[in-house]
Amino acid sequence: MSSTSLFIWLAVLADGLAGLAGGLLSERWLSRHLSALVAFAAGALLAAVFLDIFPEAVATEGPAAFQWAFASFLALALLEWFLGPHHHDHSHHAPGHPHHHEHLDSASTVVPSLLAADALHNIGDGAAVAAAFLVSPQAGVATAMAVIAHELPQEVGDYALLRAAGMPRARALLALGGVQLTAAVGAGAVLLGSRMVEGLEGIVLAIASGTFLYIGATDLLPELRRGSTPREARGRLLGFLLGLALVAVAGVVERQVMGTHP
Ligand SMILES: [Zn+2]
Repeated sequence: MSSTSLFIWLAVLADGLAGLAGGLLSERWLSRHLSALVAFAAGALLAAVFLDIFPEAVATEGPAAFQWAFASFLALALLEWFLGPHHHDHSHHAPGHPHHHEHLDSASTVVPSLLAADALHNIGDGAAVAAAFLVSPQAGVATAMAVIAHELPQEVGDYALLRAAGMPRARALLALGGVQLTAAVGAGAVLLGSRMVEGLEGIVLAIASGTFLYIGATDLLPELRRGSTPREARGRLLGFLLGLALVAVAGVVERQVMGTHP
């Protein structure tokens, strides 16, 4: 196995472990810090897009990267318009949020569709991680961090939802971890496809830039503005800056170590 594919599978595995986050952290800690976790994800995702993922896509794909990114951004916006708010809408997932009661009423239909939507989304994440590592180690690390950071609050919310629907703890974790590993399907498809279609990884990376920008800016970032106590507001700002700093510092360190672009 080449070191590139080794990194890809390690990142997919780490992403799978993120699916267990909801069961590992205490419910009390989560209900207090979930919005800071969402803000952290927003910071990491946006920093990864603007500092690493999109610059690498443009370096690989040229100006066409802008068109691919714009197309995927628009596709998500239209999809959300057709389907209503999609599953990254964390405000509906927060533990203890009043919307839980609505979900409970239709738990039997919500659980399968939640897991299916999650699986589809994770295939996209896996494809992005594989494409990024094929372009450069730096794009790969940034993408893996962006994926894991935004999966954490997502999985925590999904776990709370499955538990609220009456699913036992172990089964909920097994379901989420398993669904998370569908990322391997996306990663495998890109690994195979890049051998057949020249330049595929650059296109996939540009598409990932558009979707990550959309998720970060429209789903996660508005969390920073949600009204609450000044203490919670400070926690969110801190989470956001921490997410930004983590990705930015990792990029600087990698550039020092490997002396590479961009
Ligand atoms: Zn994701």
